[in-house]
Amino acid sequence: MRYISTRGGAEELSFEDVLLKGLATDGGLYVPKVWPQISLTELEGFVGLDYQEIAYRVMKPFIDKTFSSGDFRNMINVAYSSFNHDDVCPLKELSDSHFLLELFHGPTLAFKDVAMQLIGQMFDQLLKNGNSRITVIAATSGDTGSAAMAAFKNSSYADVFILFPEGRISEVQRRQMTTMDRSNIYPIAVAGDFDDCQALVKAMFNDSQFKDKVNLTGVNSINWARVMCQITYFFYAATALGAPKETVSFSVPTGNFGDIFAGYVAKRMGLPIDRLVIATNENDILNRALETGIYRKEHLMKTMSPSMDIQVASNFERILFESLDRRGEKVNELFDKLNIDGGFVLDSETLKRLRVDFSSCSVSEERTAVTINSVLKSHGRLVCPHTAVGISAAQKFSRIGTKMITLATAHPAKFPEAAKIASNIIPPLPKNYEDIYLKKETLIQSTKNLADVKEIISERIDR
Ligand SMILES: *Cc1c(COP(=O)(O)O)cnc(C)c1O
Repeated sequence: MRYISTRGGAEELSFEDVLLKGLATDGGLYVPKVWPQISLTELEGFVGLDYQEIAYRVMKPFIDKTFSSGDFRNMINVAYSSFNHDDVCPLKELSDSHFLLELFHGPTLAFKDVAMQLIGQMFDQLLKNGNSRITVIAATSGDTGSAAMAAFKNSSYADVFILFPEGRISEVQRRQMTTMDRSNIYPIAVAGDFDDCQALVKAMFNDSQFKDKVNLTGVNSINWARVMCQITYFFYAATALGAPKETVSFSVPTGNFGDIFAGYVAKRMGLPIDRLVIATNENDILNRALETGIYRKEHLMKTMSPSMDIQVASNFERILFESLDRRGEKVNELFDKLNIDGGFVLDSETLKRLRVDFSSCSVSEERTAVTINSVLKSHGRLVCPHTAVGISAAQKFSRIGTKMITLATAHPAKFPEAAKIASNIIPPLPKNYEDIYLKKETLIQSTKNLADVKEIISERIDR
């Protein structure tokens, strides 16, 4: 499989290079040159398989010959042995037509582990054969950071720098990063919001001198491998609930558009999905774009679902590329406009195409709290605020005869503040995190100035 850039101006790469490089040299994102197809017969064969086997079959065409079959199977098994549920991502029933897909049984209690644990394995496999050392730099709205740290904490080949918006993530999220206590792991508290952190990371990627000097690698969802690892659970959940005979819909709590784009890819590969519901909190740029065609940044709001407090959704670029018939020059034009004017307008044809696959809904803070409460009362289940946003949006788009699957993206104990406000319950943390409030925190503070961040990083890796 070869990979091409969404802006049409970068060289084609292999999976290995896409994994290691992350962002394309023209500022675009890599996508596969063609979407591999999974036939109806193959899909029927998925029924009853375990998560690891489905993962292998779904991802094999994307990784091509980068890893041998035996190695790849082994990496998948090691990655998901860190999950504390036998099903890896279990399905739970809310009603006979609405299900939760729990993606938070990995080491850092959010869905980011599903991709990151496997990415850690893939990096180690590639790096142990060469003698290079890499620098992983990522921005986090709360969950990517700890997931990346957990994936690389035992690596002898990687230094990991995570930029997070100071004061804008939950205390548990922060402590998961600042109490990691490893000499190759560096949490950086940036005086800014997530979009500032994301812009800093992008700027470092676009600085080829710096990039080469530190051997920079990205594991944000701009890295194709992240999205790829997430495709699996759409297949896993849908086939467990009757696909390919039945068509299902998904409601996806959305920030950077990575997770829901993985659902779109599953559909393009042949999985019968009816609606992909983009569920956003009050930071609703995607909902506004779907409703009006206008994609425009607004003031970023702090909500009880901080992992979705994002204005510029990086992976939206990938779906625009598809909706624009893969015309990279068009995507380029739009993103130039975004940089200069702070927004762009989609033409009616593109908008129509987006609406074929996607529905959208923005859920208010009040509605989120009400949903947490009502799910607790009627099902005895406490959900995290992101999941509540997904459930609320799902309710709006439920259709008789089509099962709806809401992605449960994080463990409720990661957001005790939200649980307390909504339901007056403080969910207990799983055993391995019981002492998290007692541990000493270590972090680096930085301004949102690019030069400062670069200096912090350069100082700590001397080569
Ligand atoms: C990252 C995250 C999201 C948003 O996922 P995207 O891929 O950025 O759209 C939603 N919920 C939780 C808990 C997350 O950590």
